Amino acid sequence: MDWIWRRIVLFGLVATLSGLFGMPAAAAPIVASQTCHASADATETYADLRRAPDRWVCTDSEYDIGPESLFLRYRLTDPVKPRAQSLVTHASPFRAITIWVVDEGGAVRTGRYLSTSVQHLIDGPMMVLPLPQTPARPRLVTMRIDGPWNKTIASEARLDSAPEGTGWDMGVVVAMAAICGMLVVPLLLNFGFYIVLRRPFVLWHVVMVGLMLVESVIGTGFIHIATDLDAATEISINSLCFGAVAGAGLMFLVTFLEPDALSPWLRRLLIASAPVVMCGGLFTALQIEALRPHSALGVYSGISLAIVLIFIGITDAWRRGSKLVSFLMVGWSPTLLVGVYRIGSYILPHARPTESVVIFQLALAAEVLANSLGIVIRFLELRRERDFAHARAIELEGVAGRDALTGLWNRHSIERRFNDLFQLGYRTMAVIDLDHFKRINDRHGHAVGDSVLKVVASVLGEDDDACAIRMGGEEFLLLLRGSGAAERAERCRRALSTRIATAVPGLGHVVTASMGVVEHDLSGNLDVEFAVLYSHCDRLLYEAKRLGRNRTMRERLTGFTPDQQVRTA
Ligand code: GH3
Ligand code: MG
Ligand code: MG
Repeated sequence: MDWIWRRIVLFGLVATLSGLFGMPAAAAPIVASQTCHASADATETYADLRRAPDRWVCTDSEYDIGPESLFLRYRLTDPVKPRAQSLVTHASPFRAITIWVVDEGGAVRTGRYLSTSVQHLIDGPMMVLPLPQTPARPRLVTMRIDGPWNKTIASEARLDSAPEGTGWDMGVVVAMAAICGMLVVPLLLNFGFYIVLRRPFVLWHVVMVGLMLVESVIGTGFIHIATDLDAATEISINSLCFGAVAGAGLMFLVTFLEPDALSPWLRRLLIASAPVVMCGGLFTALQIEALRPHSALGVYSGISLAIVLIFIGITDAWRRGSKLVSFLMVGWSPTLLVGVYRIGSYILPHARPTESVVIFQLALAAEVLANSLGIVIRFLELRRERDFAHARAIELEGVAGRDALTGLWNRHSIERRFNDLFQLGYRTMAVIDLDHFKRINDRHGHAVGDSVLKVVASVLGEDDDACAIRMGGEEFLLLLRGSGAAERAERCRRALSTRIATAVPGLGHVVTASMGVVEHDLSGNLDVEFAVLYSHCDRLLYEAKRLGRNRTMRERLTGFTPDQQVRTA
């Protein structure tokens, strides 16, 4: 693995320096004085085609890979040009290639190439076929491609003066390498967002960008820095990636936009189409021999479907007032335009088929920039929504969990929080009930009774290390922690009488309270349920009432065993 990294670093360094200082390419492509092409059946030879000049097309279009073979013929008449040494073309599958070179002296040399015998460049998606050596300068170069999978193998072909071929200019290489590097950043960033947000749209974007990265590394030829794949494997991987990117794009569109940005039927249609689009890539990747001339059909029809659906989706979202759709419009327009151009140039007979990798890479860069920005904004928006919802939930819980009259926690709250509080050390429980409270209501009215209850609540709420709860009616509960918890509860109970007398004068009698207290022993691994502790307190309170009221009954729990839960001290 180490040598791969060394090669990548060295490549990057050389590419960057050459790009910065504008180092010219070592050898230049040769423009032939005439380039023609013709299609032929398996039984036909070059001699047959020479006898039929009308079958040769001498423009850079109308390539037909339907028949078994495709001939390319270069006439080189300009003597000042450097000598042609190799043939460079788009890395694309073929069964066999034969090259004839006729030199100025009339000598003929032949070379035959298989996919496994061609060299791939590392600075462009191209393969190199060295020309057979002739005694004099080549005058006529003829190439027969058997079983071409893609028109671009002919449309991108050119003669080159360097035996090892010439790739892209260094400036282009630097830009392409930079774009590949640029794809890594949102990939990591989005992955981080996904961990925080767990939203599917982030994951779809991760899938899209990840596959774009694979596609870019193969599409630019950079893959050959690390490993030598043959063109057939490359086209399979790339077709799968293309289909999957388009499918993931549909899913991204559905999941990224606001929930009501798309009509429900369109949403369903987009989701259902995503796997179909992905299958287009699979169809091309299979490279079925009988469908060779139409090999790109699968992926191109998949992508065409995706483009149409994305266009409809974006229009619908725009009409419905989606704000986020503008990020998709900016980000996807270049990619969609390049996609349409590429499909058009492949399908239309008079158009020149092109790989247009460079334009495509630039479009990807725009996509990633705009959509990453969109994701960051959506991320912030979602976080704000989440924080707001969280705050609202706390607020609602606060309202629902409190007693309306006294503002203390109610029974429901304490039941939910008891375990946490118990772990935090609140292990002493006191249940306090006012004595003969009914009399106050009967003699002075309900409102005065309420005022008394409020005074009780304020007294019980004064201990910082105690939680005060109104269990219902005139019954309160204290959960205490810290030293002397039972004594502090007792002081509270006693304080009630004077505080009520001061705050609600004219009651005519001293209001007292009875209390049941249970202290939980800290030693041992003790755990207890709220209901169990509460029932102990309640029993003690009942005892206190029975023994004449205005008193406390106290108990200490020292341990629990499965069959005998409580021992009292
Ligand atoms: P004991 O000493 O046995 O506890 O007698 P008590 O009168 O305090 O107890 P009892 O359960 O007989 O009566 C409780 C009364 O509390 C009855 C009910 O009307 C009154 N009460 C319950 N909730 C409220 C309230 O929110 N406000 C007022 N003012 N009175 C209430
Ligand atoms: Mg009472
Ligand atoms: Mg009561």
